[in-house]
Amino acid sequence: MKLVTAVLSVSCLAFAQTSPTLYEGARLIIGDSSPVIENGAFLVRNGRIQAVGTKGSIRTPRNASRVDLTGKTVMPAMINSHVHIGYEGFSAAGDENWAPENYSPENIADHLRRELYYGVSVTQTVGSSPTDSSLQFQKDQAGGKFGVASRLLFVPGMAPPNGGPDAILLRGTKVTRAVYEVSTAAEARAAVRSMAAHHLPSVKIWVDDRRGTYPKMTPEVYNAVIDEAHHHHMIVQAHAIALEDQKAVVRAGADVLVHIVGNEKVDEELLSLIRQHKPYWTTVMGLSDRSEICEHDPAMDPLMEKTLPAKFVAAVSASSCGPASAAYQTREAMLANNFPKMIAAGARLVLGTDAGISARSTFGIADHHEIARYVQLGITPAEAIIAATSRPAELLGLKDKGSLRAGKSADFIVLAANPLESIKNSRKIEKVYLNGVPVDRDAMLAVWQKPR
Ligand SMILES: [Zn+2]
Repeated sequence: MKLVTAVLSVSCLAFAQTSPTLYEGARLIIGDSSPVIENGAFLVRNGRIQAVGTKGSIRTPRNASRVDLTGKTVMPAMINSHVHIGYEGFSAAGDENWAPENYSPENIADHLRRELYYGVSVTQTVGSSPTDSSLQFQKDQAGGKFGVASRLLFVPGMAPPNGGPDAILLRGTKVTRAVYEVSTAAEARAAVRSMAAHHLPSVKIWVDDRRGTYPKMTPEVYNAVIDEAHHHHMIVQAHAIALEDQKAVVRAGADVLVHIVGNEKVDEELLSLIRQHKPYWTTVMGLSDRSEICEHDPAMDPLMEKTLPAKFVAAVSASSCGPASAAYQTREAMLANNFPKMIAAGARLVLGTDAGISARSTFGIADHHEIARYVQLGITPAEAIIAATSRPAELLGLKDKGSLRAGKSADFIVLAANPLESIKNSRKIEKVYLNGVPVDRDAMLAVWQKPR
């Protein structure tokens, strides 16, 4: 009897996978620089996009099911290249929800479900997760252990002893021993070689003295990291916030620049380094932004209130909605100056949110905030969507992700309104598909809304 059940379920699965589906009538945002297709159609089979075009132009097998998406907009699922997964919890209020003890595979999976709920198919944690358990998580996730969730990618981090993550995150990384602490070039090279032996595709470094309170990685050490990493075809992500540090890491050949200078104007020297090296750039602005809840933005509020406990939302408002300080206003002026200049110089923007450090910039929600920030600071919604889809796919070597093109994995978001008209329409999510299968968002919501 057991055998029969097994055979039946395998054949049912095979049928479900081979039955093609035609989605038609929607506006299609491809996610790279290709033009939008109005009244489009795409055929999905075995979890992959087989063909994309205008409605009526796609040869469709007779057994195909059809899904009418007239009036909707479809964009590729997003890819978040920078979070700090695992430490945040959502049972206590506001910033009190943060504890090293939260770090567990189940909590990581919860964060990944939150990213997926909001349309993010791949989520990369950078510099704050321990190597062995992260590799194990990836293995288990590939084996189906955590159910439907955003896929975890993992980047280890390196810093001088007692350097690296900010004060909050450091509480966690000390307990999990996540950061590779290195003092010399030789130690740095050895650490990178051990990462390469695990086939890790990238490494993060912190080059930041946190206004004189932290030891800063020396040029000797970061040059060694970058040289050794490139020797192993690994990508180097460099956290640098101060203008001089950003120049130093870009000059040294870091592939990804993390953060935007927020306390002074970028100068011609940095911009010319950007023009020369064209690094990928993760601004992760949201972490230091006021919560959108403070503006009572109806497009944002339900987004947060839907998935987070009311006391949590109230705590975010209480902690981040006071009058904007002079320092905050200065930062706004610096971002307004620096962001467009960095983009014009050729910095290749990729979505990253720093979710997992602060309640107001949390998993899934922060992705929509960050891309809206890009637009508010001067790029078009189409460019913002590229930064959230095909460009991170390119950076992370995800050849089958990031755009609505034939051959790609059928990971997409169905929206009720057009984000090219207003980027905040990216939040009007009706459905999220992963590998051609609709994600059961209501079931996720039911878990999060259960009284605790
Ligand atoms: Zn970060």
